[in-house]
Amino acid sequence: MKRLGKILAPDKFSMDKEDLLCYGYDASGINLSPAAVVWPADVNDVSAICAFAYDNNFRLVPRGAGTGMTGGSTPSSGKSILISMERMNRILDIDTGNLNVVVEPGVINGRLQKELAPFGYFYPPDPTSMNYCTIGGNVAENAGGARSLKYGVTGDYVMELEAVLPDGRVIKTGIKTAKGVVGYDLKRLLIGSEGTLALITKIRLKILPIPESVVALLVFYKSLEDAGRSVSKIIASGAIPRTMEIMDRTTIRVVNQYRPIGLPSDADAALLIELDGNNKAIMQEAEKISVICNELRGSVRLAEDEASRDVLWEARRGISPALYKISPTKINEDIVVPIGKIPDALMEISKLSKSSGIPIACFGHAGDGNIHVNILTDKDDSEGFEKAEKLVRKVFEITLALGGTISGEHGVGLTKAKYIEMELDSGVLDLMRAIKKLFDHKNILNPGKIFV
Ligand SMILES: Cc1cc2nc3c(=O)[nH]c(=O)nc-3n(C[C@H](O)[C@H](O)[C@H](O)COP(=O)(O)OP(=O)(O)OC[C@H]3O[C@@H](n4cnc5c(N)ncnc54)[C@H](O)[C@@H]3O)c2cc1C
Repeated sequence: MKRLGKILAPDKFSMDKEDLLCYGYDASGINLSPAAVVWPADVNDVSAICAFAYDNNFRLVPRGAGTGMTGGSTPSSGKSILISMERMNRILDIDTGNLNVVVEPGVINGRLQKELAPFGYFYPPDPTSMNYCTIGGNVAENAGGARSLKYGVTGDYVMELEAVLPDGRVIKTGIKTAKGVVGYDLKRLLIGSEGTLALITKIRLKILPIPESVVALLVFYKSLEDAGRSVSKIIASGAIPRTMEIMDRTTIRVVNQYRPIGLPSDADAALLIELDGNNKAIMQEAEKISVICNELRGSVRLAEDEASRDVLWEARRGISPALYKISPTKINEDIVVPIGKIPDALMEISKLSKSSGIPIACFGHAGDGNIHVNILTDKDDSEGFEKAEKLVRKVFEITLALGGTISGEHGVGLTKAKYIEMELDSGVLDLMRAIKKLFDHKNILNPGKIFV
């Protein structure tokens, strides 16, 4: 490892214990220090690091900001080189004429949003972690966000990628134009590949003009089932809100405790719905949605101005950190079910919580069927933790039986690798393993992730 000094300037790598400790974890709670940390400044550095690791059989673990929920950016072995993209953080071009931007992977999502706003444009994918996570991490996880319901996920906005293969070769894949169908779509293969196929070093993203107006509705229910049924009914009515977030009773209690914004403590569920577009049109749509919610016994509050919407979103973004406060070792899954099956999923999970005696908080992007299932458990209570881990499999069984998927945005990483056979059949898994081998026949890039 010390030979890294031959290819990198001294300020671009470290083997100091303090540095290693800071790069061994992500939001999954997994923690294993690497043997070295490197901070490349450009694609040439990344290429040199990869070639060095390839020649010497060292494992490489790419990392953005470490907000991943599945251990993707944590080393699976103490002999790894952790490659932090935080210094490759330049916004290289904002091209409003062609509706796209070019960024380096270490750019923070929220910073890109802020820099685009004065031009009158925005980048739609908005993970709740947007103020910390990087665009490179978003591409590697195909991250979604609250606005995915109307605008889609990261992969829908990536036009072109520059990436470095495990042996150091640099490739470009994708297009600068609105359309293009020449050859296989390798760009699409790299999106969501969780740092297992190549290191992403440059990204061209689509952007959109900021809509004229936004309006938010906060709806409270005495029954979780009514909230779930409202989600399906709203979608079936033809309305397309940009977000439709759900919180169950446990989540509302936690928000009231840690970020009180006056949510009624007797509510069993709440929906946070946002519409954007032409002012007259969205007010008409808000009226239509209010009628649907009222029919299902929801009580509706309107938040038209930006300040009151900001308060709601601050509380929404605070849910996950607040849950960590009451349950530092909580297990967080992000299942997705077909929209019409949301009430069934919520009710089945609620039954599971009652029968096991383990609290489960459900919240998330209900509008696209993506529910964050948080099993509130304590690792120090080994018997309880084991029981909670068993619930994960049951939650996945419920999800798959309803026609869903076990991860909508957090990826497989280390934590879900043991479950993917529940969803993917052996033929598909064999093909995926063969693709991994084609890109990385020495298995040096993020080994242990996705596949056991
Ligand atoms: C409070 C909270 C809320 C969240 N909300 C959402 C949400 O709404 N939607 C959502 O999708 N996710 C959410 N997440 C999960 C997480 O923020 C996303 O997965 C995000 O995309 C990770 O970005 P990161 O920069 O932190 O990447 P990291 O965690 O550092 O890495 C994630 C994966 O990407 C790989 N990687 C990183 N950079 C590169 C690169 N340049 N090239 C190749 N591989 C790379 C890593 O090896 C790893 O496998 C949330 C997390 C937290 C803690």
